Amino acid sequence: MSDKKKLRDILQLYSLKASEQRLILLQEIISAKAVFSADSLYNSTQGKIDLATIYRFLKVLQNNNIICQVQSIDENKSYEYCLPQKYIHPHFQCTKCHKIFCLEKLAPQHEAMLREYSQQNEIKQISLTFTGLCAKCK
Ligand SMILES: [Zn+2]
Ligand SMILES: [Zn+2]
Repeated sequence: MSDKKKLRDILQLYSLKASEQRLILLQEIISAKAVFSADSLYNSTQGKIDLATIYRFLKVLQNNNIICQVQSIDENKSYEYCLPQKYIHPHFQCTKCHKIFCLEKLAPQHEAMLREYSQQNEIKQISLTFTGLCAKCK
């Protein structure tokens, strides 16, 4: 299966329109394997796609839980790809270089606690971000 077909399939699964620009952005998001923002996507696609289009698409992806917002100290919203339903994990952000790191997943008892909690409550977003200085900056 070609990469493009795979990307189309993901969008189709959520009944989302697969335009050429969307496929480029999704490819970028999946291959980055890291936390990204609208600005970083704009840069990595060399400005070929305008920011308004990127913002709109990120909103659509977030509404469909294809990407999750990562809480950060930056003004720009940070996201990460969260399909297939990635395990829940906290983040660490360096207050000097602003780099965001993914930490180890939650312990099984915490995941069980969340599952139990979401039987009666609707959890819309889970975020846990530690801040401080990374090994390079401290
Ligand atoms: Zn740092
Ligand atoms: Zn992460």
